Amino acid sequence: MELVGKYAVLHWGNEEFTIPRLKHGVLFLMSGYVGSQIHGCEYRIHLDYLRGRIVNEGVINGLQEHSRQLGVNEDGLGLELGWNPIIVNRGEEGVYFFNSKMKNWIGYADFSKPFIQEASLVMIRRNVPILGLPDLIINLDNKPTYILELKTTNNSTNLKFMRGREALQAESYFHMMNYLGLNPRGAAIIKIVRGSEFRIIDNIDLIIRSLDGGEDFVRLTKYVVIHRINVRDFNDFLKDVDYSLDYWLGLRNPRPSPSRGLCSGCEHRRYCPYSVVR
Ligand code: SF4
Repeated sequence: MELVGKYAVLHWGNEEFTIPRLKHGVLFLMSGYVGSQIHGCEYRIHLDYLRGRIVNEGVINGLQEHSRQLGVNEDGLGLELGWNPIIVNRGEEGVYFFNSKMKNWIGYADFSKPFIQEASLVMIRRNVPILGLPDLIINLDNKPTYILELKTTNNSTNLKFMRGREALQAESYFHMMNYLGLNPRGAAIIKIVRGSEFRIIDNIDLIIRSLDGGEDFVRLTKYVVIHRINVRDFNDFLKDVDYSLDYWLGLRNPRPSPSRGLCSGCEHRRYCPYSVVR
């Protein structure tokens, strides 16, 4: 990707895509946005871009747990606590971020390894690049087979719940891999209480056996569960992508979804005109 005058251009194979002007100056979408826009509060994302986002200790602890579970360095570990502007997908920083993630492009992956951490997936829809960063891809017989997205919590009672936006995020990786012709077998969320002794990359065989079993919900330990994703038809997924893109393309306003549950955990609740929790 490069900036050419007022536009960003994506060079993809032999093709070149001029990325349309998107809201807030973004150059590409993260695939997780689709789930947040459909199942969370889209107006919150709108305010995140206008006002910034709070990085609190829970965010930092989550990144540290990701790093420990997956055996990788997380980009975000250098973040400062407090309000942070979102720069990951805008301007020069956005181009840098996108291009650096392309070093881990799934097309370069070695599927003879037991697993691949944080490979990059890309899908292009209406000339907009959508970037997916699944936490872990488990390979079997030299093929990418299961996609695993890690979610961490500090409370074991949260383990049994899977949010709609989490399911859609993992589903997006499945469809993006199919779109790239890689045909995975399944996708799942693995939920872990932060600080437990379990480590994903030391338990790959156990995870494969659980996923092969086909159950929707498997408890691996008191502090670790797996939620298997019921993947919908690709066209149903595309409808969600298009609905999300309509906002970024400026074709409609952001949709607020106020509720006590969503607003009470939202950093914008004091000034958001739709908030039901002040
Ligand atoms: S306060 Fe509520 S309605 Fe407003 S952005 Fe946050 S979650 Fe959405």
